[in-house]
Amino acid sequence: HAPLAEVDPEIAQVLQRELDRQRGFLEMIASENFVPVSVLESQGSVLTNKYAEGYPGRRYYGGCEEVDVAEELAIERAKALFGAEFANVQPHSGASANAAVLHAVARPGDTILGLSLDHGGHLTHGMKINFSGRLYDIVAYGVDPETSLVDMDEVRRLAHEHRPKVIIAGWSAYPRQLDFAAFRAIADEVGALLWVDMAHFAGLVAAGLHPNPMPHAHVVSSTVHKTIGGPRSGFILSNDAEIAKKINSAVFPGQQGGPLMHVIAAKATAFKLAATPEFKDRQERTLRGARILADRLLQQDVADAGIALRSGGTDVHLVLVDLRNAQIDGKQAEDLLHDIRITVNRNSVPNDPRPPMTTSGLRIGTPALATRGFGDAEFTEVADIIARALLPGADVAALRERVSRLAEAFPLYPDLDR
Ligand code: PLP
Repeated sequence: HAPLAEVDPEIAQVLQRELDRQRGFLEMIASENFVPVSVLESQGSVLTNKYAEGYPGRRYYGGCEEVDVAEELAIERAKALFGAEFANVQPHSGASANAAVLHAVARPGDTILGLSLDHGGHLTHGMKINFSGRLYDIVAYGVDPETSLVDMDEVRRLAHEHRPKVIIAGWSAYPRQLDFAAFRAIADEVGALLWVDMAHFAGLVAAGLHPNPMPHAHVVSSTVHKTIGGPRSGFILSNDAEIAKKINSAVFPGQQGGPLMHVIAAKATAFKLAATPEFKDRQERTLRGARILADRLLQQDVADAGIALRSGGTDVHLVLVDLRNAQIDGKQAEDLLHDIRITVNRNSVPNDPRPPMTTSGLRIGTPALATRGFGDAEFTEVADIIARALLPGADVAALRERVSRLAEAFPLYPDLDR
């Protein structure tokens, strides 16, 4: 019965200091967000005690009547949110959702066509030492070196040349929308399945601010914790009854044992919130924030320092800064922004002249700050702070002061002790 602070003060301190860090810094890692306290409540609940292998109404354990309700709600809400006939809400993470998708629709040795990691794809789309790269025969498409856009002619050429079983459309670092209809047309030409991994932009889709892949894809996977802002986890959607059956058996028993019922309950809440006008407003502020940031980083003072934006702007919740012609490299820029209390991550650019631990790029996203309450005025201020931080001779102390003022004006989890 003893509280954490008594049982394990070292871990209690980690929790407290992490809350302080999240409060004091401006979070601009494009894949992160802040969950509402309602989601924290389910995640820290007694549902963590429950084994519920199987699916609602078809469990391998007794006592599942209450968790069945939670999972049914999560399934129905996910289906309604994205216009899907089927949803599996059990994947523990985006990576395990993706493993289940490939397990369901391909066999080891099959050819898979996806966006290469160093052009913005995800590890699970075919990186050599990831399960995807080890089990499947990976062919990768890239982005055009001039425009930084996915070149659909190259996708078509590679699809016809290699006849993949599956084509993946989705990304972790790409500032534009993909043309799902064009991907589907290519998939149909070569008899491939189209899998869209919407992990990053699912929140924008839910709000109706980004094309929905559901009408085009055979299967869609996602995380819940990026733009959606729910618990760290994944889910899978499909409108194809055959694929749906295979997905269910690929997730359990194919990939996982007991589902995380406390997380599934939190997913249900996240999907409920994602259907509200407040959620749409947050996604609109997310998109406007990214555009404000892009506009500032395209101004002359930044360009004069050799700093550019990949693809020249953004249609989504992030921008990709290109530092190939700048004095400052990705690692230095990440460290400098950390010094002024803005958290971002460095990112390789295609054909990066600098090594992977240094890189020549930054990925900067707006979802977490939009959740914190930022609107146009605050994003304009943070965009100027970032621009000035990246210019030579930045006044770190003054910029840190401007960051602190923004952080204090938007208290995070004001009623939470830890
Ligand atoms: N898919 C994409 C496109 C991602 O960007 C990510 C996470 O970065 C994942 C899948 C994996 O999600 P997770 O980190 O939950 O395994």
